[in-house]
Amino acid sequence: MSELVDHLAHLTGFRDRDVLDVTLVGAFKDLLQPLSVAIYRTVADPNGERWLTRARLGHGDVAATADPAWVDLDQLPLIDEHPVRRDCLRTQEVRFQPGPPHVSLFPVATDREVVGVLEIETAQPMSAEAQRMVGSILRIYRNFQGLLDYSERDTLTGLLNRKTFDETFMKTVVTLPAAAAQGAAAEGRRSKGSGQGYWLGVIDIDHFKNVNDTYGHLIGDEVLLLLSRLMRSSFRFHDRLYRFGGEEFVVLMRCSSDTDAAQAFERLRANTEHYAFPQVGHITVSVGFTQVKPTDTPSAAFERADKAVYYGKTHGRNQVASHADLVARGELAEDGSKVGDVELF
Ligand code: GH3
Ligand code: MG
Ligand code: MG
Repeated sequence: MSELVDHLAHLTGFRDRDVLDVTLVGAFKDLLQPLSVAIYRTVADPNGERWLTRARLGHGDVAATADPAWVDLDQLPLIDEHPVRRDCLRTQEVRFQPGPPHVSLFPVATDREVVGVLEIETAQPMSAEAQRMVGSILRIYRNFQGLLDYSERDTLTGLLNRKTFDETFMKTVVTLPAAAAQGAAAEGRRSKGSGQGYWLGVIDIDHFKNVNDTYGHLIGDEVLLLLSRLMRSSFRFHDRLYRFGGEEFVVLMRCSSDTDAAQAFERLRANTEHYAFPQVGHITVSVGFTQVKPTDTPSAAFERADKAVYYGKTHGRNQVASHADLVARGELAEDGSKVGDVELF
């Protein structure tokens, strides 16, 4: 009993979801001594959903393994390759697969959605008491995730909030691999091979005030919600999407060049332009983006992207502008101020 309480205290001591999943599998390993325990989640892919391993501990493992945050999606198994796991996820019901090994599968949900499956392999069928314990711990996990969501997410759209951006930005920059750091030194230059970096984009709805003035705030809010859905479908699962308040959104994404980033933002711009918003019809967005440098603060990177948005706003809107590109073309100075006589900032 005290061991269980210790694990719960440990589990709820973290604010980081990655650590939370690792802690959860560690707790089940200690409490149940299974052959293996793992948490799998699904990620969307053009060919259908795939299984991502969030945390897995085998019998002899001391440390949990997980798919890397930026795993190549093609490497992951398709959802149908694990039909029992898939059924557990879809039906949100516990599933058992007789063994040995005996496999018990529990849906892992948050208040917003079913996010994955906890899979426990044991030599003997899991006892009813053990099943109840797993169910109870998962309920605590769910409640805790709900609290995290409440503090990290924007209530209207469910996207991450600004506070979370500042907190995770530095963590993200620290993980910039050496190759990306070199690439960042020359912003905009295509980095070679596995060189990966982060790009930050600011998305601002064009003439959104007109939407509110014409249709009212409630319809305006619906547009914000629908745009957040377009963002989810336009970007990849590991891109982080934020609502910064108002009608301003931010994307922190990993890719390998300014060109790739431009393509991703262009996809969102085009998807938005072609989407028929109920009542309102068509709206457009202006996007500005910049590569994140290893020495960046959240506000420095944001400001560069925002200056590129401003450029788009003053040059016809409904467009994607790269800060590096604008600097290279002499439209913006390196520090973001406008080239020419008039200092804008
Ligand atoms: P621009 O193309 O230059 O961006 O024009 P705009 O009208 O979109 O820009 P501006 O920043 O002047 O106005 C933003 C408007 O967004 C002001 C306000 O009416 C609206 N707004 C801000 N927050 C919310 C919100 O939470 N809900 C709704 N419905 N509207 C909001
Ligand atoms: Mg705005
Ligand atoms: Mg706007």
